[in-house]
Amino acid sequence: MHSTMQDVPLSVRRLLEHGSTVHSGSRVLTAMPEGYTEASFAEVAANAARLAGALRGLGVGEGDRVATFMWNNQQHLEAYYAVPCMGAVIHPLNIRLPGEQIAYTANHAGDQVIIVDGSLLAPFTGLIPHLPQVRHLIVNGPADPAVVAGITGPEVHDYAALIAGQPDSYDWPDVDERQAAAMCYTSGTTGHPKGVVYSHRSIYLHSLAIALPDVFDLSAADCVLAVVPQFHVLAWGLPYTAFVTGCWLAMPDRFLAPEPLAGFVAAARPNKAAGVPTVWQGLIRYADATGADLSSLTEAVVGGSACPPSLMADYDRHGITLVHAWGMTEMSPLGTLSRPPAGARDREAYRLTQGRFPASVEPRLIGPDGSVLPHDGHSVGELLVRGPWITAGYYQEEPFADGWLRTGDVGLISPDGYLTLTDRAKDVIKSGGEWISSVELENLLMGHPAVLEAAVVGVPDERWGERPLATVVLKEKGSVAFAELQDYLAARLPKWQVPERWAFVDEVPKTSVGKIDKKVLRARHAAGELDVTTVG
Ligand code: ADP
Repeated sequence: MHSTMQDVPLSVRRLLEHGSTVHSGSRVLTAMPEGYTEASFAEVAANAARLAGALRGLGVGEGDRVATFMWNNQQHLEAYYAVPCMGAVIHPLNIRLPGEQIAYTANHAGDQVIIVDGSLLAPFTGLIPHLPQVRHLIVNGPADPAVVAGITGPEVHDYAALIAGQPDSYDWPDVDERQAAAMCYTSGTTGHPKGVVYSHRSIYLHSLAIALPDVFDLSAADCVLAVVPQFHVLAWGLPYTAFVTGCWLAMPDRFLAPEPLAGFVAAARPNKAAGVPTVWQGLIRYADATGADLSSLTEAVVGGSACPPSLMADYDRHGITLVHAWGMTEMSPLGTLSRPPAGARDREAYRLTQGRFPASVEPRLIGPDGSVLPHDGHSVGELLVRGPWITAGYYQEEPFADGWLRTGDVGLISPDGYLTLTDRAKDVIKSGGEWISSVELENLLMGHPAVLEAAVVGVPDERWGERPLATVVLKEKGSVAFAELQDYLAARLPKWQVPERWAFVDEVPKTSVGKIDKKVLRARHAAGELDVTTVG
């Protein structure tokens, strides 16, 4: 029996129309060297229409890819709406990848037009000879004229001048909800970047889901600081959710170092925020040292890698609750988010988990033999997921055979549905047939008062097959000896899990999106570049 309901496509256009009318007065704030600029959602929508008109004039048609090479800012938000709503596909390039990987992703995606922030033009120009398909470069904001004059190949336009003469409305097409709207590449933590293509429908549903009270909890009364870059899984969907809920967006542009970021927080006064642990670590150290004003913030969603408990405690002292979330490029990105259940007594234990799955995301744990494991709080296996905003396969690759995404993450699920990740499958340390969680070791080490950061990887061991190597960054050099850190772990873990190999390092290598780069760490160890001491 068919329903009698109307079949209205779930498209980005609907989000744009809703946000720019019902929430026309909500604003996007973009950080400047001093203070910020602002625009209402109605102005953003008018500029999105102008940009769509200009792009059509440059020959952009349905399904064509328009890339961005930009920070988080108002114009990037305009592109987020203009491109999908006109039927084309937006592809935010990861500006922090090595040059050859940026060129690889742009060429693989087939980007023909690229919008580049003026402040990023100089580093971008080196890539141009490697991007033969690019016909137009649109430069947003001031750029060095000498750099512009030196560009050969694509036609160069100024963003403001290009959209200036265009009408402030556009006859948006009614696209099929399954059509491509946007694409992102994985950041390549574990290999070559892979393309994920989001549909209008997946973006729409994800936008509704993350706004919910037990997820990001966003409404028109909120202002959210999007530290997570727009090139990292579409800034976790916040630019689209903003137009659903009317929540304001505070966009830090290039001002991401602790000092200017704290200045932007003090000026724009967001009450919520989202980003990876690394950013929050830098900001809180700065605030503790200088007394910077973070008082507008009440909570921040932290994801992308495991949130150390010590970091949560540091923010608790400032009255800011860090809310732990897990996701992937392949999942738009929301997988889980951790708010303790109503009435829970052990709230802290719940906060440390990766959290609960929203409606529509279905998890499955499997053992090494592929058998399905129970959600009993102790069976550990690889996590599989499926749902309407999870990719069915990678761009230009075969779809996954059985309809489930293998996350490559290893963990357990409690009977009340909370996910705890112990590792990535590739990072699991197998010592004498038993698994040691590198994440647990890192979390514990970062809880030691002398430790700033820690990263643990498995290294070959004659007797046990593999043993953990702990690399540690101290807050103050020489303040603690390895033996003391060992004792600290031994008091909290079974003895066989305590590492005997240790190295102090000046910094932990990070990926383009700020995660611990274990691939690099293992390579440094293999090349003999780490000064490893064996203790005990
Ligand atoms: P890449 O896979 O290229 O690093 P993603 O941002 O898509 O790029 O990474 C997703 C992965 O990041 C997850 O599969 C998981 O391993 C890790 N991750 C994300 N959030 C968390 C978290 N809260 N705790 C532990 N790991 C996380």
